Formats: sequence, C-alpha cells, structure tokens
Amino acid sequence: MQRSYVIKPELGKEYARVSHGKGIYLYDVSGKRYIDGSSGAVTASIGHGIEEIADVMREQALKVSFAYRSHFSSDAVEELGAKLADWAPGELNWSFFVNSGSEATETAQKIAIQYWQEKGRPTKTRMISRWMSYHGITMGALSMSGHVLRRKRFVPLLADYPVISPPYPYRRPEGMSLEDYAMHCAGELETAILRIGPDQIAAFIAEPVIGASGGAVVPPDGYFQRIREICDRYDVLFIADEVMTGIGRTGAKFGVDHWGVKPDLMTLGKGMSAGYTPMAATMATDELIDTITRGSGLIMAGHTYSANPQSAAVSLAVLRYVEAHNLVEKAAVQGAYLQKKLQELADESPIIGEARGLGLLCGLEFVKDKQTKEPFPLSMGVAARVIAKAFESGLLVYPASGGLDGVAGDAIIISPPLTITTEEIDELMDLLKKAVQQVQEEVRQEVRT
Ligand code: PMP
Repeated sequence: MQRSYVIKPELGKEYARVSHGKGIYLYDVSGKRYIDGSSGAVTASIGHGIEEIADVMREQALKVSFAYRSHFSSDAVEELGAKLADWAPGELNWSFFVNSGSEATETAQKIAIQYWQEKGRPTKTRMISRWMSYHGITMGALSMSGHVLRRKRFVPLLADYPVISPPYPYRRPEGMSLEDYAMHCAGELETAILRIGPDQIAAFIAEPVIGASGGAVVPPDGYFQRIREICDRYDVLFIADEVMTGIGRTGAKFGVDHWGVKPDLMTLGKGMSAGYTPMAATMATDELIDTITRGSGLIMAGHTYSANPQSAAVSLAVLRYVEAHNLVEKAAVQGAYLQKKLQELADESPIIGEARGLGLLCGLEFVKDKQTKEPFPLSMGVAARVIAKAFESGLLVYPASGGLDGVAGDAIIISPPLTITTEEIDELMDLLKKAVQQVQEEVRQEVRT
C-alpha cells in the first residue's frame, strides 16, 4: 500500500477504500459489500448511486456551479428555500444556507443573539442546552454540546453555558411515570432560566431525538410541549436541532412534528442533501427575520460556499426524491418493523439494555447488567467492538456514546436509508445479531476470567 498523507479519524489505522454504492449497499475496492446500516453518519438517507440526482448535478454544473451569494441568488436556491418553507412547521419560512450541521447550529446561535439585540435586549446572549447532546464540532456549536469525548480537550476555550438534564426514559428515577418524568425534565429548563435570569438567556437548543451522544433517545410525550410553554413564558427562543432528525428520518418530516411543536429556529443538515453534496440550513421564523430586517437588515454569519447553486440544486433534487417516493411515510412503516426486530434482539441478548427509536432512527444501549442497568465501563469498548465486528461482516452502524462513563450507556445507532425494504432489514438484522453474539461471548469470557 502506498503511504497515506490523509489525516483520518484514527491516525495509523488502515481504512478500507470505498469504491461505489448502490441503494443501501456500499462496496470497497476489493469488491466487499457492506450494508449501509447507518446511512454513514445518518446522512445517505435516500441511498447511494441515484441517477436522477447525478443528472441534476451535471445539469447544474453545466449551467453554473458557483456564484457568490452577495452577487446573485439563483433559481435553485430560491426553489429550495420555498420547498423548505412549505415543509417546515409554523412560521419557519426562512432559510440561511450553510455547509454542515455545526455551521447551522452556530448560525442559529448567532441569529438568536442578533434577534434580541435588534429587539433592544442585548444582554440575552447565553444558550441553554442539555448534558446529553451533540450540536457540532466547531467551538460555538461544541459550547452547546454535552458530548464529553468531543468537548473535553477544549473545555477552557468553550463558552460556559448552562446545561439541564435530557429526558432519558430508560434511566429515569425508579417508579416515576413517563408523564411526570417529562414534566420533571422540562421543569429543569425553568429552574435554569430563573437561576441565571431570563435577561441573560437567548435560546434553548435541543435535538428532538438525542443522536450521537446517546443513541436515539426519544423523549416522552409532553416534554417538548412543556419546553415550548416555558420558552414562551420567559422570552427564550427554542432552537430545534434537526440536523439528524430532519427530512423524514423519524417517520415525520421533522422530529418536532411528532409533538406538534413549533420552534423559533431549526437546523438541518445530513439528510437534507443525503450525502450527495455538503449542505445544511438554519431556518428562522417570520418574526425573527422581520425584526432583523427592520433593524440592521444584516445577518452576521455566512461562509464562502453558503447558498451555492450547485449544492442547492442537489438538495432540492433530494427533497423532491423524498416526496416522490413517499420516504417520510416509508420511514415510519419500515422504522416500526426495524424497531420490532431490534426489540427481539434485545430480548434475547444479555448485553442489550434497551432497543429504542423513532422511525428509522434507532439505537441499542449495551449494559453490563440488564437488571440494574449498570453500564459497561467505556474502557471495555463494547459498542466499538460491535461496530468493528459488524464492519468485518459487512454491516455499517454508528457509534453513539457521549463519553459519560458510568452515567450513560455505551450505544450504537442503526439508521439505514429511508428506502430500505423489509427483506433488506432482515439481512441487516442477521449481520447485526451475529456481531452482537460474538461480542457478548467475548465479554462473557472476559467477565469470567
Ligand atoms: N447537530 C446534530 C444533531 C448532529 O447529529 C450533528 C452531526 N452528528 C451536528 C449537529 C453536526 O453536524 P456536522 O457534523 O455536519 O457539522
């Protein structure tokens, strides 16, 4: 093998080289086939190698790939904005286009701060988030994130924002009903706002379903409705980070749609362009954008590639594909089937504490003791081993351990393309089951010795 000069996630490790993809499958250069059981990083949600997307790419590239957003808008960008306004809940009619989920959440943070400045309340600058959360890798986004592994080296450089408990039903206090638990967790937001003072707080940010830091942790009904009421009472904006959950992933267009909640800002990425191009967006309501328009008239954010016609055309083609193939509805139906299969696996495995999910965003949490729910120490790398075994046998799944050793479990995400068929789910489950069985056997021997 030739020497590599590419900085990879794990330095020194040799990575298989991908060759091509078709539908839910990826192939490496040796010809080995993999089921893309996590759509990469919950991204390739319409599957690989779709010709009509490639046609749009070529067409747009021949027309114009890049024109700077300070010079021009374009049909592609305008149509994409209109489509998202049509899809999004409430008065979320405005889109600011960026290139990654991290940029989208940082832009949401900036728009929130700017909104309060334009309203004459410049002290409202701080964000509240949850200790189990992931909102991105750049410093502003990381400041709002609870993902310990990704934060810990940079803590001195991060903004010191308050955090509250996430609803984590599997580990709720013994004997507490889900209804009471929802109110209890949402109530922490009110306490945090009152402790710091509503005049300091610009916004509260949350993922509708916790992804990378927890493994598809679904909140109880009533939680987000209560969060919305609290935000309204104290003039705190609600940012829904839908980078992972948006565009059909959970069996609704957006995660918040499950509870009929209307955010003030919403971030999108990943499934928005389904991996065909880097593309993300921060959506804002009429009230926010009208206020900023009447004030300075400028949004202080943006990147060179923001709103480039090429990415906009591709993202628009992806959204049209999702609509034409009823993928939101399919995600709900196939998600129910996948969740049932994961539950069966959990029932028979001594190391799976919980199978959970919403639509096709599913998770497994591994535990040392199913009765007490005692997590494995992260040093045992149980989820990482399942991921490695699955990879060996040709199945890709996604890590979702936030690094809170002993507090939260070691988890993985299973989130195949929304196009997956029932037979393909069975094939995925066969490989996953084998990987879990291999690891539980290894772990059993280690615990014994
Ligand atoms: N928010 C959420 C909810 C995410 O899951 C992610 C990525 N895992 C991000 C933000 C950051 O997105 P990106 O990696 O595209 O910057």
